[in-house]
Amino acid sequence: MSRDASSPDAIQSLALLGATGSIGENVLEIVAAHPERFRVVAMAAGGERWQRLAELARRFRPEAVAVWEPDAAAPLRDALADLPIQVFSGGEGVCRVAAWESARMTVAAIVGSAGLSPTLAAVRAGKAIALANKECLVVGGGLFMEEVRRHGVSLLPVDSEHSAIFQVFQHKRHVRRLILTASGGPFRGWRRERLATVKPDQALSHPNWRMGRKITIDSATLMNKGLEVIEAHWLFDIPPAAIDVVVHPESIVHSLVEYVDGSVLAQLGAPDMRTPIAVALAWPERVNTSAPSLDLSALGRLTFEEPDRESFPCLDLAWRALRQGGGATAALNSANEAAVSAFLQGRIGFLEIPALIADALDALGDASAPTFDALFELDRQTRRWAESWIRRHSSREA
Ligand code: NAD
Ligand code: MG
Repeated sequence: MSRDASSPDAIQSLALLGATGSIGENVLEIVAAHPERFRVVAMAAGGERWQRLAELARRFRPEAVAVWEPDAAAPLRDALADLPIQVFSGGEGVCRVAAWESARMTVAAIVGSAGLSPTLAAVRAGKAIALANKECLVVGGGLFMEEVRRHGVSLLPVDSEHSAIFQVFQHKRHVRRLILTASGGPFRGWRRERLATVKPDQALSHPNWRMGRKITIDSATLMNKGLEVIEAHWLFDIPPAAIDVVVHPESIVHSLVEYVDGSVLAQLGAPDMRTPIAVALAWPERVNTSAPSLDLSALGRLTFEEPDRESFPCLDLAWRALRQGGGATAALNSANEAAVSAFLQGRIGFLEIPALIADALDALGDASAPTFDALFELDRQTRRWAESWIRRHSSREA
């Protein structure tokens, strides 16, 4: 990862992947506040909310938009017929937007492993990458980082913990430990018996952050922190044994780096994604955002505690997959995506999310995946495997 992004004075032209999502909308708020500095030249989204994409395109006037869902292309094209905006669709269309010629930076804010191909297309086209889509590194970390190095692109983290580390990261050879903070989610302090009763609505109400549905469930299971450990390993090239997690319910300290001399550097701020997004978009400059100022005396105290690894086994499952290497983290990610989606549909319970993932690692964790094609195949295979696990378990309960 390189800390010297593009030159500060030129206008930053952006391709925005996941424009209608929680990160996407925050990016657009920053772009709207700094029209002299940022311009969105291309946008992509899934397509389930194509009307919102049409509204955003009308407002930000990109040169191109893409929807992944092919059925959404015709209505989107109609809605934008009076504007000089090219409309693409399908996986190919999204990749085309990701590598859009006039973009200097691509913001990778698609959710899930669906973000890997388009982000890779952007890397191969030499775009600087503002990376929110952590699943990209969980699925294909080693191969993805190799492509980043080969194409000499800047990779700027958007995830708040990794943005924090990035901002206080000095020489790697002096780093003793990375410490990722976790809010603990809505069920901090709950034991397994109580977690067994959790319904999707409860899991969707996060105490500190407003985010998309998938990452909100990941925060409730602590899988989000597990994915972030894997993300940190690849971004900063730090071994898994030198990465720790501490629960910090106030979400003010966004993460820390401990150096060999005992010095610990942290980055603090209100829990507001506009800050890490602005850091990535403007680096090495800084731009104003509407994120609130931190009032330390009003806060009074900051607290820290050990994560409860027994009640929230997803954290250790992620570590296990990272140590296992090969395709294990890809299998972990696909199993998690399938489990979260089944939980949101009411097909499996909350505790079955880690149960499914643990069984998936037993069944598929040894798969080797030396190429991107092998990773994509493993992703499909794990989803098929997970679907049959879910069928067996949901029929057992019915
Ligand atoms: P979200 O669900 O709110 O938005 C996801 C976006 O991706 C939507 O625009 C959707 O249309 C688009 N999308 C989905 N599938 C697609 C596909 N196949 N092709 C093209 N577009 C597709 O999610 P979010 O909360 O904004 O999270 C996005 C990513 O950022 C995730 O990887 C998440 O882990 C990461 N992240 C989010 C936050 C946050 O605060 N929301 C914080 C840190 C990291
Ligand atoms: Mg995070």
